[in-house]
Amino acid sequence: MQDNSDFNGNDNKSDKSGNRPPDNSNNKKILFGVLAFALISTFLMNILMTSFSGSNMFEIEYSDFMTLVDRGAVKNVRIESDRLIIDADISKIELPEGMSKIKQVGEVTFYTGLVGDTELIQNLKDHDVKFSRKVTNSSPIMDFFTSWIMPILFLYAAFYLIMHFAAKRLGGGGLMGVGKSNAKVYMQKETGVTFKDVAGQGEAKESLQEIIDFLHHPDKYIKIGAKQPKGALLVGPPGTGKTLLAKAVAGEANVTFMSLSGSDFVEMFVGVGASRVRDLFKQASENAPCIIFIDEIDAIGKKRDGSMNSNDEREQTLNQLLSEMDGFDSSKAIVILAATNRPDVLDKALLRPGRFDRRIIVEKPDLIGREDILKVHSKDVILDDEVDLHAMALATSGAAGADLANMVNEAALRAVRMGREKVLQEDLMEAVEVIIAGKEKKDRILSSKEKKVVAFHEVGHALSAALQKNSQPVQKITIVPRTMGALGYTMQMPEEEKYLMTKDEMLSEITVLLAGRAAEEIVFETVTTGASNDIERATKMARSMVSQYGMSDKFDMMALESTENRYLDGRNVSICGENTSAELDKEVLSIIRSCHEKALSLLNENREALDKIADYLFEKETITGERFMEIFKEVKGESAETDDEKSAVIKTDTEEREEKSEKEESVHFDRS
Ligand code: ADP
Ligand code: ZN
Repeated sequence: MQDNSDFNGNDNKSDKSGNRPPDNSNNKKILFGVLAFALISTFLMNILMTSFSGSNMFEIEYSDFMTLVDRGAVKNVRIESDRLIIDADISKIELPEGMSKIKQVGEVTFYTGLVGDTELIQNLKDHDVKFSRKVTNSSPIMDFFTSWIMPILFLYAAFYLIMHFAAKRLGGGGLMGVGKSNAKVYMQKETGVTFKDVAGQGEAKESLQEIIDFLHHPDKYIKIGAKQPKGALLVGPPGTGKTLLAKAVAGEANVTFMSLSGSDFVEMFVGVGASRVRDLFKQASENAPCIIFIDEIDAIGKKRDGSMNSNDEREQTLNQLLSEMDGFDSSKAIVILAATNRPDVLDKALLRPGRFDRRIIVEKPDLIGREDILKVHSKDVILDDEVDLHAMALATSGAAGADLANMVNEAALRAVRMGREKVLQEDLMEAVEVIIAGKEKKDRILSSKEKKVVAFHEVGHALSAALQKNSQPVQKITIVPRTMGALGYTMQMPEEEKYLMTKDEMLSEITVLLAGRAAEEIVFETVTTGASNDIERATKMARSMVSQYGMSDKFDMMALESTENRYLDGRNVSICGENTSAELDKEVLSIIRSCHEKALSLLNENREALDKIADYLFEKETITGERFMEIFKEVKGESAETDDEKSAVIKTDTEEREEKSEKEESVHFDRS
């Protein structure tokens, strides 16, 4: 096993980002540091104070000073701006009452505050006392230094120390220390990982091939004047091998691999992230050719919302990243790969040409993919001859690569615990249970009952599409759970790129959307929550038919809603009266009702095809449009046209809103 360093699947995300929760020992350290600092600084301040005011001076009252002068003890008086420094010899005189506390004998220095004594000078002259006023002692520069610079330096030092401790605790590199050593860039000259270590993911590998070729022969591209690919975005759920793929690209191209996580950039202090980005690119250009891999790019790449409480630090970091990407020398062979499982939250600027303009989908593996991954990871594990990896792949629908790697290891550990020398099927199946039990609900592996429901649901979509002449041909159906929490999807292809939709096309589209749920109703006589996204989209479509496109008889061509801010969020705003609004809802409902009934009757009439195809899908998890049509024709005994490849429309079932590329949207919801 090559790379089972991060064996705990999703959990390793928290380890990757350096933000450990603060533990007790760290808190103690900080407390200790602050205390020590306070002690030392008070001590220093005391020394400073005393050295400035003289080491053994005693304050006396002005009247006592006068007495000393009268008794002839005073030798010398220095007049300062606000006080008098008095050198006196008190050995031969009787001290005035107020000075009884003073135990010193002989020559002692006193000081006293200046009072507005106009006779002082005369008095001193009379008693033959030397007096002077120093000019240097209170030079304005010195004053400025002691009263302004010192406290500022002191405060600054205090601030620095506190921040230093805080930053250390947060796993950052300190305030000043944003240098290379702190940027936590993980660098490998040779990753030793190749595409062989990545099972499945054929499409992703193919897309990455060009990048590898560029890194191999940058001259070839430069010579012809082609713009090199600067970056690609690997999109997929956690644990599907995005990091592994990035490493494999570096390994295949034989270049240095530099990686860090998006969350490493986001710091407490504005500007630190940005300087880390600068640093990273400097380091990269020193190590070119190389791959920079930024995991969890969504941590910095979130949409800049421009709201009041927006995150300045993150924005600065993002802007720095964008300008570095635009700026770096394209003749240097540097390619940036970034990974995310939330492409929908990314700032559009990141996805513009010349930046992360390529999107590489890294999906969870299907049945064959899972078996391959199990093979890769059990390569170095001693398996019993009876072990059936295919059976294990069957039982792990929805598991990501990391889960499968984890399962193999878990099984090996179990075998050791049981004192065996080989891993048995029993160990593997037990490990499956352990890993499944440990998964969160939202990301869990489908039970076979759920898988069945999803299979019928998807075939419901596909079949209703195939049965209506106005809808697009089916390209692919899969029940392998997908990125955004979707349980499956049916992919349809339009025959040509369309910007206009007819009323009939919209009605069939709504029927197709509702047919997933209709299939569930027919087969299971109960319904599930899996259709919320379908319902939302169907309703929106029906609503816009009535309110915006003038496609209902009732309202003719009257606009009931208008699109606000077409270029921002494109929210629809009602522009009709309350009563009309209620009528609009009724009209929408009647469209939905009739499409729902249509879907039910289409599927009921083709129950045999529904069952056959769903069974097949349940078994294989993914079927192509061609295979779908074959089975369909077998059942129907009639011919249907085949389709040519253009763009794809994806229908997903998800509780969250799925992201759609602009092109897809223009096909679905014609907004122009
Ligand atoms: P991601 O970056 O997508 O979260 P990783 O690349 O960190 O996922 O994957 C974690 C581990 O899971 C890998 O180190 C590898 O052991 C295993 N793994 C994931 N996908 C595959 C795959 N397609 N082939 C082989 N191993 C895989
Ligand atoms: Zn659906």
